[in-house]
Amino acid sequence: MTLSEELAESYPRPRLLAIDPWTCGCTECGEGTYKPLREAAPEEIATMLTGDLRNHTGITFTMTATIAAAIPYGGTLRTATTEHEVIISCEYRSWTVSPHLLGIPIR
Ligand SMILES: [Zn+2]
Repeated sequence: MTLSEELAESYPRPRLLAIDPWTCGCTECGEGTYKPLREAAPEEIATMLTGDLRNHTGITFTMTATIAAAIPYGGTLRTATTEHEVIISCEYRSWTVSPHLLGIPIR
């Protein structure tokens, strides 16, 4: 580890406040209080879409939720094993996000 890497680790990163446009390189993105969309993690996308991070992206997002149920012979939907997938998409890419992070109640 270089000295500059050690120094960078010794200072706490500022709290993330907003997600900025895809290719943003503003001062706040450099400091870490904002983050360009291209670097956002799935958890950060979920936090932005639930309103706990500001959305500076200027674009439209689409959420697609899929529920798959495995119903073995002799079973019913009530006893089926289900799996859930939530995909958040925009014009640049998509993220697979846990439904729980979006506040979607799934048993
Ligand atoms: Zn920025």
